[in-house]
Amino acid sequence: GLEVRLAERPHGWPTENTFEFAEVPVPTPGPGQLVVRNAVMSVDPSMRGRMVDRRSYVPPFQLGKPLEGGAAGEIVASEAPDFAVGEHVVHRLGWREYAVVDADAAIRVDPTEAPLSAYLGVLGMTGMTAYVGLLDIAQFRAGDTVFISGAAGAVGSIAGQLAKRYGAARVIGSAGSAEKVRHLVADLGFDAAFNYKDGPVAEQLAAAAPDGIDVYFDNVGGDHLEAALGVMRDFGRIACCGAISAYNAEQPPPGPRNLFFIVSKRLSLRGFIVIDHPERRADFLRDVGALLRDGSITHRETVRHGLRAAPQALLDMMRGENIGKMLVTL
Ligand code: NDP
Repeated sequence: GLEVRLAERPHGWPTENTFEFAEVPVPTPGPGQLVVRNAVMSVDPSMRGRMVDRRSYVPPFQLGKPLEGGAAGEIVASEAPDFAVGEHVVHRLGWREYAVVDADAAIRVDPTEAPLSAYLGVLGMTGMTAYVGLLDIAQFRAGDTVFISGAAGAVGSIAGQLAKRYGAARVIGSAGSAEKVRHLVADLGFDAAFNYKDGPVAEQLAAAAPDGIDVYFDNVGGDHLEAALGVMRDFGRIACCGAISAYNAEQPPPGPRNLFFIVSKRLSLRGFIVIDHPERRADFLRDVGALLRDGSITHRETVRHGLRAAPQALLDMMRGENIGKMLVTL
């Protein structure tokens, strides 16, 4: 099977030299392991962080070794008593056609209840990030006015719809194109949206949120965070989910200039990583699954085909070519 490896560590934006392809024999499972033929895999901003050789909440990718990311596929060999050939699982070893997965790192999923791709997005890691970030981290309450950056992406599009369905007074989104702004308002039910490339974020946000905001769901950092701090109401809450505006920067960008608002407005900012919240998985699947089934929320996917298209899919996602969840089918 084919696999995608890290060929060199990027400085700034990854290039074609960052990746290399290799053909390896189809593996056999050891005791307690499965071999999964990956059918679809997730393309995530966090992969950029793992290309850097530094300590973080997940280990960095190793040069000459395959990249990793969420994937779903069919079990083709099993040495684990709880998993049978022909069943489907989600796991963390994408970016290769065949993965050897420890049974305790695999989650069984049912492709007759939802397509496999949904278990990587709306019913998977990114959907759960939206759920945990909004409800547990930002402590969302009905009646809040909510601002979400990266709103047309996998996490943001679900966070915004959940806020709306759970009784937000007003949900405002930012995204990087006119088509995305239209999508947020027309398809996802946001009350207002703006294209951050049209002008200063602070000005556009102030116009969209004349009475201020209670909750900011931050996917972008940088100028978006500074703008949100400027319009936060007293005792507002910020869920720090990501800072994609800086992931490909060669130098760390300057921080918000108005951090004193954290003090004067008595704000709470809290960072989180979704993998620390497995105890919420059952609640998430129950609640978001129900909203999905009854049509109260929708989700989009942007799908590329074939492992050879995966490096470009990662670059395209970071450039904003995706609407909703970016995926690669194998
Ligand atoms: P998305 O589907 O949102 O794709 C990334 C999007 O980021 C692009 O579509 C692009 O949309 C936007 N973007 C890229 N560059 C910039 C920029 N300079 N300024 C503003 N927007 C930009 O990805 P995900 O939903 O998977 O992830 C969203 C965020 O959530 C990321 O920050 C990610 O790191 C974080 N995350 C955090 C997790 C956690 O546990 N804390 C788990 C999963 C994700 P546009 O056209 O609008 O620019």
